[in-house]
Amino acid sequence: MSEFIPNPPPRPVTYLDEQFWQHCATGKLGFQCCEQCGTWRHIPRYMCAKCGSDEWAWRESTGRGEVYTWTVCYMPMSREFETIFPYAVLVVEMEEGVRITAGLRELDYQELSIGLPVEVVFEPLADGTQLPFFRPRRST
Ligand SMILES: [Zn+2]
Repeated sequence: MSEFIPNPPPRPVTYLDEQFWQHCATGKLGFQCCEQCGTWRHIPRYMCAKCGSDEWAWRESTGRGEVYTWTVCYMPMSREFETIFPYAVLVVEMEEGVRITAGLRELDYQELSIGLPVEVVFEPLADGTQLPFFRPRRST
């Protein structure tokens, strides 16, 4: 008999998360960068995992990276996704060294490969913000 392990409660949205989404709303991908050691980080957090400093600034990403890995979702978990599945969810390693999870655009998921150069594109949401996705890289 297996034990049932309940899902943990969702991570609360912090003002750091809100700042990340505010950058997205302007069509820019921004990540935190440590003011002491220069290490970039994502997801947003208060302290540098490398040096422990709590001094940081938002810096604009180049928006370019490479596919680190991905998964393909074959079962829609809600009605909003019924028209787009199956779809790929990527983990992209950005030029700054951080990794970000986002959807795929402008490429069939069957053509994905590890290391594929990609760039960020934004799509507007009804609430006025924008959601980042990645497509095969066009810029150099
Ligand atoms: Zn640091």
